[in-house]
Amino acid sequence: MGAYILSQYFINIYDTVKTMLSGMSLTMKHMRKKKELVATMQYPNEKWPIPERNIGFDNSEYNVIRSRLHVDIDDCIGCLQCEKACPVDCIKIDTLKPSKGSDFDCGKTSNDSPKKMLVPRFTIDMSECMYCNLCVYPCPEECIYMVGGPNEPKHDIDYEFSKYSKHDLIFEFSNVSETQIIEAGGQDYLAEKKAVSDKVKNGEKLMGGDVSAADSSSESPVVGKRSKGIDKAFVLFKGVSDGKMKAVARKAIAYGRRNLEDPATIISAIKNQLNDISADMESALNQFSSFDYGDSVKGGSSSDSSQNVSVSTELFNIKEINIVEDKLLRANLKKIYMNGKKNKLNSNIVVDEMLVLLKGKGIDDSTIIDHLNSLKINEVSSASTGASSSAEVEASTELFEIKEINVIEDKLLRANLKKVYMSGKKNKSNSDIVVEEMLTLLKDKGVDDLNILNHLKSLKLNKPKVSDSNQVSVVNNAKENKLFDMKLLNDIADKVARGTAKKVYIANKKSNKSSKEVIDKIKKAISTAGLMNEDIENLLGELE
Ligand code: SF4
Ligand code: SF4
Repeated sequence: MGAYILSQYFINIYDTVKTMLSGMSLTMKHMRKKKELVATMQYPNEKWPIPERNIGFDNSEYNVIRSRLHVDIDDCIGCLQCEKACPVDCIKIDTLKPSKGSDFDCGKTSNDSPKKMLVPRFTIDMSECMYCNLCVYPCPEECIYMVGGPNEPKHDIDYEFSKYSKHDLIFEFSNVSETQIIEAGGQDYLAEKKAVSDKVKNGEKLMGGDVSAADSSSESPVVGKRSKGIDKAFVLFKGVSDGKMKAVARKAIAYGRRNLEDPATIISAIKNQLNDISADMESALNQFSSFDYGDSVKGGSSSDSSQNVSVSTELFNIKEINIVEDKLLRANLKKIYMNGKKNKLNSNIVVDEMLVLLKGKGIDDSTIIDHLNSLKINEVSSASTGASSSAEVEASTELFEIKEINVIEDKLLRANLKKVYMSGKKNKSNSDIVVEEMLTLLKDKGVDDLNILNHLKSLKLNKPKVSDSNQVSVVNNAKENKLFDMKLLNDIADKVARGTAKKVYIANKKSNKSSKEVIDKIKKAISTAGLMNEDIENLLGELE
């Protein structure tokens, strides 16, 4: 028995050493012939080679795989078409137009199109991209595309682009240097960018960060951009037991505040979406109606808002202008926007300037006007515009059109008044201030022509203008004779009658005829053509 135990002891030692050596020899073999024997590919350092053919598609159709987006940034003209087309907003583009004074040349694309902008930021977040390809089609320079396939000559197929961190999937294509931005006069852009990166560094955008404190202490406000942390008002809805109701409220608040809506509008939007409102929800909404965010724009009681507006530099997002379909008008509005942004003007002032431009151009599209009004910080609706308070009138920068001065016949006096006008315009003075200055000038020069004085007074913001017929008639005969806008004839439904009316209008416009004379002629022409009906008669009657 003792001999058996002893032999077993040595057999175990032998087995241990034997298995250990055989295991180690296999390990050593793998170490020596690593490439031949390791079955697992050392991903991501090693990747399978890209199959050359026969993967189910022809090489020319490789693009159907939607491998990866690439931008030939040297060809990008910064038109933002791709950004607008992206349904998930994963393309972010910043453009910078060289300032007027600078002779910076942005160059040309490979299609010889002149580039008018610098593109200091062009990022695509591939972790969000859903490979729909929609951004590719609108590009006028064909410089954004999925790699491979038909674009194989432009860029190699790249079917795999894994990264260690999600953030690395945000690809930056811009190659514009800071020096170029400065040369193009983009110091403000750099300052803005720095302010944003400082905010991020300080964690002010993180959940729980004190956004309001950060906003008030920030020396260079990030114009047009808003903090994206959790909305402070969400806390009011914590006690709402119905999760669905809570979600609707949160969504409506986030959306409403992004669009600068006031609490009342947001609350009515929430109520519209909910059939039954529970008691806890009702009380949360009541609290929200007077919730103070502590900033100048979001929420807060309406009584505070007017005070805050005067100091706010908050400017709406330029994308809001994209609803204007007319390209030229859109460009003009964007010019005003950029100018406002540069001068750190707030939404109200910029919108007012835009409205003046629209008025100057005779555009009375209520959709555009209402939309612009809705961008104002204190949500001035089109209905309430007419009833604006005297304080608002005082703060307005609305200035009458320079053409109004043309009714003054004395050339020298006209020139002097125009000088005053231009100086007022430069200083963003409103009609009241400019008119007062003009009246002072007239007094100094001893001009007491009642017609001129009354006309100038009628241009003041708080004085009735064209609508006050008595006053206008005293002011100036020329003004009384002013012909109505041809666009008003667009209300004539019948095409042929409308055409006839416009023909008569154009034929008589140059001969300085009054509205009444022209309307008489239009009536005659339409009647002769046998097209007169009650609607047209009423319309022309109104114009008369
Ligand atoms: S492929 Fe689609 S989701 Fe991706 S960037 Fe283009 S438009 Fe956006
Ligand atoms: S559509 Fe083309 S040219 Fe326009 S911004 Fe996008 S990539 Fe650039």
